[in-house]
Amino acid sequence: MASELFAPVKINLSLHVTGQRADGYHLLDSLVVFGDVGDRLWVEPAAEMSLEVTGPFAGGVPADARNLVWRAAELAGQRLHIRLEKNLPHGAGIGGGSSDAAAILRAFGAPDQAIALGADVPVCLSAGPQRMQGIGERLTPVTGLPALSLLLVNPGVPLPTPAVFKALEQRQNPAMTPWPGHRLAAWLGAQRNDLEAPARGLAPVIGDVLAALRQAGADLGRMSGSGATCFGLFATRAAAERAAADLSRAHPGWWVMPTQSTPSAIG
Ligand code: ATP
Repeated sequence: MASELFAPVKINLSLHVTGQRADGYHLLDSLVVFGDVGDRLWVEPAAEMSLEVTGPFAGGVPADARNLVWRAAELAGQRLHIRLEKNLPHGAGIGGGSSDAAAILRAFGAPDQAIALGADVPVCLSAGPQRMQGIGERLTPVTGLPALSLLLVNPGVPLPTPAVFKALEQRQNPAMTPWPGHRLAAWLGAQRNDLEAPARGLAPVIGDVLAALRQAGADLGRMSGSGATCFGLFATRAAAERAAADLSRAHPGWWVMPTQSTPSAIG
């Protein structure tokens, strides 16, 4: 019998690039939350590793040892048959591959080495709001963050993370101001995603997505990760769903997905 695992969408509510190490890795300061939509995996022990990729975003995802789920299984010392249902766009700044790999590591162990698979893998091991620092390995749970009504929008332009970092001009930006526990939209409005400008340079349509989110009534719109997915923050789930319907009608080629984020475990 295969066990089912869930790999939730990762959203960077803010992402500050605060420096670069001598080895080239960027230092980050980011508030990360997870939504209630994501990829699904079915895993069962097998004599040999094998992987089948299905779902609306299977196209272009490797079904071999290049896939992060395959590498995660190897890291955990497992031989598995994995079926991976890609519901999230990839190369999209919402951690698809990292969250998939973290789901395998959560189920089978080896989380200490999670960072070896990618900077976003450690944060994806726990589904709660976290402040992510260092190159992704310094994690602090964020308390007091409620469930957020978000609308995710991806314009269908894949953005490779290395290309966005390469286009980043200012690599030493101020750190994030810690979340004070109230007036989320105002606080977020004063934080940044330092990758937004270089990503917009590579994919100007990101500017259209952010404008469309504002027009659809979002209290705040930002890009997640290295893009091109953006999120809008709404007062209620119903408001996010109404905006989703409007944006899907106006932009049939965009991926538009309302989601509710996991709140802090401690109030
Ligand atoms: P992040 O938010 O961490 O920057 P991303 O959205 O930029 O993530 P992914 O969705 O992880 O990037 O995919 C980036 C590339 O990695 C894909 O284009 C694909 O070639 C490769 N890849 C390897 N494993 C996976 C996986 N399980 N799911 C999606 N892509 C994968």
